[in-house]
Amino acid sequence: MTETFDANKIRQSINICPICGGNKVQGTTTFTVDLGFGVVVVRNVPALVCDQCGTDWIADETAERLEITVNDARLRHRQVEVTAYMPA
Ligand SMILES: [Zn+2]
Repeated sequence: MTETFDANKIRQSINICPICGGNKVQGTTTFTVDLGFGVVVVRNVPALVCDQCGTDWIADETAERLEITVNDARLRHRQVEVTAYMPA
């Protein structure tokens, strides 16, 4: 059972991109997680996105809601699950 959940994408810090020095602006991103048996794609996830290199950061509370969505998809056990982020 291999499961990757990229911790770096969930960490949120100050509003300067540590990679290119660009500005992080509020936007949305597509979150993808590989559950081993399949892939879950969550669209329209609110995130801070670098206006220069496009790297995104997802807030902790958003990540927690994402986990609920991912767990739900895990139960359905589909090879590919594409869903939209559901705000609280
Ligand atoms: Zn950047």
